[in-house]
Amino acid sequence: MIDSLNKDRIIWFKGELIKASEAKVHVLSPTAQYGLNAFEGLRGYWSDKYNNLFIFRLDEHLERLQKSCQILGITSPYDNKEITEATIKVLHANTFRCDVSIRVTLFVDGEGGWSSSNPVNMFIAPIAKPRSDINLENGKKGMISSFERINDHSMPPRAKVGANYINSRYAYLEAQALSFDFPIMLDRMGKVSESSGSCLMMLRDGVLVTPPNTASIVESITRNTILEISKKLNYETEVRSVDKAELYSADEIFLCGTTAEIIPIISIDNYIIGDGVTGSFTKKIYNEYLNVVTGSEPNWLTAVWKNSKKC
Ligand code: PMP
Repeated sequence: MIDSLNKDRIIWFKGELIKASEAKVHVLSPTAQYGLNAFEGLRGYWSDKYNNLFIFRLDEHLERLQKSCQILGITSPYDNKEITEATIKVLHANTFRCDVSIRVTLFVDGEGGWSSSNPVNMFIAPIAKPRSDINLENGKKGMISSFERINDHSMPPRAKVGANYINSRYAYLEAQALSFDFPIMLDRMGKVSESSGSCLMMLRDGVLVTPPNTASIVESITRNTILEISKKLNYETEVRSVDKAELYSADEIFLCGTTAEIIPIISIDNYIIGDGVTGSFTKKIYNEYLNVVTGSEPNWLTAVWKNSKKC
């Protein structure tokens, strides 16, 4: 079902709706040669209750996209209203009435080099993708990476730029080669930063703790959402520097991100976290997160269909 939905998927490409397989980018473009692009990964969740597809925190994602462009030194030819309209248009074109993942990318096009700043073009590519509940029972093994997280002395990590993900790649490949699931990178100061494509949260002595935005992390919308959810559930939260050994002695750890959603981590460097299984706090947060993304926080949701009917 999902495969057939995605086979002929349509993307928004330079102002047109075309098949993903027909989109062409110049091999000598800065985006192809150097990863010179700013992008966002969005999620849309199907709600049975509201009979609609909701994009989660679209405005916040688009604001971050504009900030990434600013840091990268490129200018988006589209404002957030235009990107929102294009996003809804391409979801309509695909008739998606299911959970989706959406990539919005502003890329430096044409023949050029690493210092080029234009022309900037955009594509929006949605794909049907079910939520990853499966992660919840299968806790993952983390390791402290030997790769340091990029930082403002080299490549600002808060800009979501294609080229930054080569840092993620090295850390992830190392973790996989050593039979772990995910890397946890440290920042320049040796404090816990984040994973390859997600932020880290830990429960320690009943307090939810996560590194600050100045720990070389992406300013994560999911992390922000989970902090809000936890406060509403009356948990104490702390945004502060985290030491590696605090992870070894945490009660629960999970990774979070728009695509990653919530991934329980049951060991770090083979130190068992808590009881070595997904903790009850992590499960509670996951369930509440699902409620929020499927309808319980309307302010954070952009409805895709006007008069929706279930597929
Ligand atoms: N860190 C990195 C490196 C990421 O790629 C992501 C995913 N965008 C995140 C953290 C989580 O950010 P968000 O919750 O906004 O998806």
